[in-house]
Amino acid sequence: MNSRLRNLALDVEITLKKIAAETTSFSETSNISCLKGCSACCHNSDNVWATPLEMLPMAFDIFDRGLAGKYLDRITSEPNRCTAHEDHGGRYGRCMEYKHRPSICRLFGSSVRLKHNPRGETVPEGLFCNWQRDHFKKEIEQIENLPVDHKDLCVAGHLSNQFNISFSKNLEVEMPINKSLQKALEMIMQNEHYIEMQMQVQHKDSEVHQSTKI
Ligand code: SF4
Repeated sequence: MNSRLRNLALDVEITLKKIAAETTSFSETSNISCLKGCSACCHNSDNVWATPLEMLPMAFDIFDRGLAGKYLDRITSEPNRCTAHEDHGGRYGRCMEYKHRPSICRLFGSSVRLKHNPRGETVPEGLFCNWQRDHFKKEIEQIENLPVDHKDLCVAGHLSNQFNISFSKNLEVEMPINKSLQKALEMIMQNEHYIEMQMQVQHKDSEVHQSTKI
């Protein structure tokens, strides 16, 4: 039987998949994409913020593969770069945990947020990097001129609000991605250790029960 924490990770995974579907559709409709192989955003972990809650699917996957210790060591030895990042030189690289990446890694480069313009009106502002702003000027202009409720917009704030799963307030505090992964891993390790201890106690109890029956 799954623990409460593991079930929560499965719920988060469903939300992350929904976000991925929305951002993919936004990229297809807007024709705005990232530079192939670029991972410039992943070089500085302090620029990528996530909640431990969103890191649970990745952390469980890492834990289940027996890599929790390795990742925790890497967070300590290389605190600046995202721990899931594999450097290919320059701005290039690869996400080693792409399947379980948190919402910001799905939303940045493929969504908009809402802001107030100088006239006090709410307008969409693309979440794009400088390279995208240089290469997709016309497309970005079109997107940023759409009404906020336009069906083609993928609004980052609305999507990340879907993480309203009440569990522990500590899980919902945003922090740099490495810290967030560290918290999620530590929570899982503690939780799994507790479950193992409980199982051992139950096993002992049933042995005592059996022997008293004999
Ligand atoms: S989780 Fe993956 S996509 Fe997100 S910052 Fe880290 S390496 Fe980049």
